[in-house]
Amino acid sequence: MADNFDVYCSICRRTEKQAGAKLIKMPQNMYICPDCMQRSMDMMNNGYFDNFDMNNFDMNQINEMMKGFGGGPRNQTKDKKEEKAKTDAKEDKKEEPALDLKNLPAPHQIKAQLDQYVIGQEYAKKVISVAVYNHYKRVVTNTMDEIEIDKSNMLMIGPTGSGKTYLVKTLARLLHVPLAITDATSLTEAGYIGDDVESVLSKLLQNADNDVEKAERGIIFIDEIDKIAKKENSHSRDVSGEAVQQGLLKLLEGADVEVPVGATNKNAMVPMTTINTKNILFICGGAFPALEDIIKKRLTKKSSVGFGADLKDRFDKEENILSKFTVEDLRAYGMIPEFLGRLPIMYSLSGLTKADLVKILKEPKNAILKQYQKLLALDEVKLEFTDEALEAIAEKALAKKTGARALRAVIEEFMLDIMFQVPRDDSIGTVIITREYIDGTGAPQILMRGVEVPRLN
Ligand code: ADP
Repeated sequence: MADNFDVYCSICRRTEKQAGAKLIKMPQNMYICPDCMQRSMDMMNNGYFDNFDMNNFDMNQINEMMKGFGGGPRNQTKDKKEEKAKTDAKEDKKEEPALDLKNLPAPHQIKAQLDQYVIGQEYAKKVISVAVYNHYKRVVTNTMDEIEIDKSNMLMIGPTGSGKTYLVKTLARLLHVPLAITDATSLTEAGYIGDDVESVLSKLLQNADNDVEKAERGIIFIDEIDKIAKKENSHSRDVSGEAVQQGLLKLLEGADVEVPVGATNKNAMVPMTTINTKNILFICGGAFPALEDIIKKRLTKKSSVGFGADLKDRFDKEENILSKFTVEDLRAYGMIPEFLGRLPIMYSLSGLTKADLVKILKEPKNAILKQYQKLLALDEVKLEFTDEALEAIAEKALAKKTGARALRAVIEEFMLDIMFQVPRDDSIGTVIITREYIDGTGAPQILMRGVEVPRLN
């Protein structure tokens, strides 16, 4: 560990004292502070290092990449930073391909791109690729003559952690369109405590660098949409349920909306601008937890006509019952018909299986395992997992019932010790995570530098 003032973080140039934390020792006498380490983890999450070849890297390459997130001397003046941000933004503008029919990827290409990040959910990926393709074809050609093509707003139903938000995020990134993610639970009817429905447009505008044109072809994802279902037996005004659905109607369909620039609050003294929502793609997502019961009830009713009620629990065993939903089921859930009518594309995502979770751990472009492997590669340490270890991690995650979301929590718990111990011992060459280590009955296998890694699986 660094113990004198000459040692500083190779990225932000702060000394240990300035950083207020111990610096982590890296190969080639480099040090990194915990802040920069965290930031590099975040960047990996965002696919920043996708083109980085782990087996064949040199420190220059790393230094080059580190510059990308504001590295360099810490005492860079604020003005300089702002200037840099401005020119970066300008460059981005130039680089970003405007969506036109020529470079609008075909549905199969969109799906192939999504496949690199999102595991399983084949049906959802197919539907979303076609819908997005049609939507942007409509946007870029502006064909509104005789046959008006409907907006492709979507409703996505799927258990928590099945990849709803992730799918939308990946899509927006691939298409280079701005994205705003909002939680429907934070929305209330205008005039009540909470955000107006129009605040989602302010968010989108912010994410589009206040460029109205860019925002007008962006994507808005409204999560937890099931939480704004009509409340039954409610004697007071339903300001966060039905009223929010009503409020969203005109946005979903297409309207000119006054939006404050640079703030989400209309009361603030800020300039206003008008956004037309006609070409904004709205995607609503929710887990709809009690929907399965409604579907089962409907199916049981239908199939028991004339044959007695012996089929009552027939559907209990059936997997993926959510995929059998109909608009009527959603109405019974408390979604109003006008709202559902403005979301013509509806589909469900299935709960992830153990096999899916194992794949999610290792296959996507920015898979969690690859991220850890890259981190340890910076310490010149190889990290390997046996197949059994991956299964054990998936089993533990599955038990938490929060889908793929649990994976990171589970793996972080086990990696903490490794990430703590490895950097302090230069002789470690390879760490192999075994099922025994995950199950708590053994230790990871450690190989010294120079020792060849045995074939694992
Ligand atoms: P939700 O369906 O609740 O919106 P998220 O999309 O937020 O779930 O998923 C949480 C995390 O789990 C994502 O950030 C992603 O890393 C991972 N994940 C979920 N589903 C998948 C999937 N099908 N393929 C790859 N990663 C996934």
